Amino acid sequence: VDIVLPDLTFAEELKGKLKGLILTHAHEDHIGAVPYLWNRLRLPVWCSDFTAAVLRLKLAESEFGRQVPINRVKPGQAFEVGPFGCRFIHMTHSIPDAAALVLDTRFGRVLHTGDWKLDPAPMVGEKTDIPALEQVGKDGVLAMVCDSTNVLSPGTSGSEAEVRESLTALIKAQPKRVVLTTFASNIARMETAMMAAHAAGRELFVVGRSMRRMIEAAREVGYLKNMPPIRDERDAGLDPARQGALPAHRQPGRGQERALPGRRRPAPPRPAGRRRHGDLQLEDHPGNERTLFNLHNQLVRSGVEVITEVDHFVHVSGHPCRDEVEQMYRMIRPRSRSRSTARPATSRPTCGSRRRWASLSRSWPRTARCWSWPPAR
Ligand SMILES: [Zn+2]
Repeated sequence: VDIVLPDLTFAEELKGKLKGLILTHAHEDHIGAVPYLWNRLRLPVWCSDFTAAVLRLKLAESEFGRQVPINRVKPGQAFEVGPFGCRFIHMTHSIPDAAALVLDTRFGRVLHTGDWKLDPAPMVGEKTDIPALEQVGKDGVLAMVCDSTNVLSPGTSGSEAEVRESLTALIKAQPKRVVLTTFASNIARMETAMMAAHAAGRELFVVGRSMRRMIEAAREVGYLKNMPPIRDERDAGLDPARQGALPAHRQPGRGQERALPGRRRPAPPRPAGRRRHGDLQLEDHPGNERTLFNLHNQLVRSGVEVITEVDHFVHVSGHPCRDEVEQMYRMIRPRSRSRSTARPATSRPTCGSRRRWASLSRSWPRTARCWSWPPAR
């Protein structure tokens, strides 16, 4: 099985009533359906600059890619989709240019938060636009659809700035090759890897097509401009003491596998003594547990010493924990509400570091993703 698709019949049945596709950000679970859905609905698309850049590269692989009308919208800029008045509010998330959608209907205002968090120092892109959200709350909101992924975890999700500091020190202390996995779309984490590699006197190799595609999209809209050069992955087997590699984790068997010791071309030399080829960060996201555990096992079998957030501070979530969700509800005070991208109640809390991985292990494979799309009936 290469790809699993939801039944899109429900969308086709609404074809005459649908006026457009509005994308809050460029994560795969928010734009991945567009190449499959668009040809059946042929609707215009609205999204931010970075989302548009990623979508264009994605659609370039389809035969109708050039036909898709993509409207780029800045935060705060008003636009209309059919009878709806729309506006984006900038939100921090683990990808640049994420946005909440303010949707004005004849029944009242709806706020769709998209995926978000509150981060005082997100490193790439702006902070969540709190004043704009407060104003929306003051004006009155009929309904809010809110990302509450980590609501079972107390406190806040933490800042990317703290991860940058921690990872930089960690990578600097490693004697041999370092492999770091992350979502390809986490541009702030990618920038962190580049800066950490530079600070440690290492060269960085990016492995995998999705990584290169995201870097291209980020540079197109002005991110990752002044970063040190990135070398071709085919050279990445030459000097284990000086190299770091940055593979995507989304597709095990592709980017990640090529980053594993002994699986690269040309084959890397095996360091003498202790079998310590590198270190690894694993990034958690609900729904990815099986992929992550498989990758973890692959790396351990390959002789890699794996460092996860259980061992070190190497990751913060891009989704809000309980205090952040509470702040959002205080600001917006919607008359009715619905959650999106949330864990089922049977899942354990996931924000705390050590407790987090252990609880994930216990809850897996019961843990399942509550998809925000297609909508629950
Ligand atoms: Zn997301």
